[in-house]
Amino acid sequence: MTAVLLDGKQLAARIRNDIKQKITHLVPTPHLAVILVGNDDASKIYVHNKLKAAAETGIKTTLYTFDGNVSETELCELISKLNLNSDINGIMMQLPLPKHLNELKLLNLINPEKDVDGFHPINIGKLQNGTPGAVIAATPKGILRLLEETHIDFAGKHAVIIGRSQIVGKPAAMLLLNKDCTVTICHSLTQNLSEIVKSADILVTACGCPQLVKANWVKNGACVVDVGINRIDGKLCGDVDFIPVAEKVAFITPVPGGVGPMTIAMLLENTYEAYLKQTKS
Ligand code: NDP
Repeated sequence: MTAVLLDGKQLAARIRNDIKQKITHLVPTPHLAVILVGNDDASKIYVHNKLKAAAETGIKTTLYTFDGNVSETELCELISKLNLNSDINGIMMQLPLPKHLNELKLLNLINPEKDVDGFHPINIGKLQNGTPGAVIAATPKGILRLLEETHIDFAGKHAVIIGRSQIVGKPAAMLLLNKDCTVTICHSLTQNLSEIVKSADILVTACGCPQLVKANWVKNGACVVDVGINRIDGKLCGDVDFIPVAEKVAFITPVPGGVGPMTIAMLLENTYEAYLKQTKS
């Protein structure tokens, strides 16, 4: 392999350790409330990993679990209570929620200052207009942090994002636009996807299509961040055909061990930063 590996596991460990050092002397410690609804196995694993990482970093957590048939009113009441509780610095609600619940309505109810997922419209708006101090969603924030490790000069580079979701594609595009990249967002109806990808200096794939991006799609020397989490025959893989692509590009993230650990580290960083904002007098 000729590409340099963008090792998210290592970078995330460094960031978590740094937060841990800063938190050691804080009284009270930052406190994250986590809301988990229903019995989705993947959601339970994600929440377990977040709680474990928070504990290792010294961030206090409280988990609120609900049956899949919980009412919207009950969740609204909990969020309102957590918003008012000065002991809680961050609130995260694991998505997706069961279909009968209005995800947007519930996310919009979270106090933007405690919105450590960065999904509240106020935080999305602040990201869009480049307001310093906006809470940035953990995955795109982690993507940018990985790209910064390459010391690439972002200005004028062509960044191509595959995927236009609210939680990954769109905010990642906005972050790269704010860094003066020329950004193209692609999606399932994009025509000539491989041709567009070929012109990317920076490629972010977040479509959930196993090994979609082939070596003959990518530019020599490109930086590739693979967000996708897929399985082929039970084995984890990303949206990029890793081995042949890594022979051609300059930097690439592995799956697993790339964006995944960074997402958790950025959630913890957002919680720590929320704490600082709330406790500064
Ligand atoms: P969504 O399903 O919300 O969005 C997928 C996006 O990819 C959509 O915009 C869709 O287009 C687009 N897309 C789907 N198929 C194609 C295709 N063949 N060509 C081009 N575009 C396509 O997914 P998420 O954004 O939530 O997640 C994307 C991937 O990233 C998943 O694999 C997910 O598991 C992973 N993920 C990883 C995280 C991490 O921490 N590592 C965190 C979050 C997600 P359209 O809008 O037209 O439907």
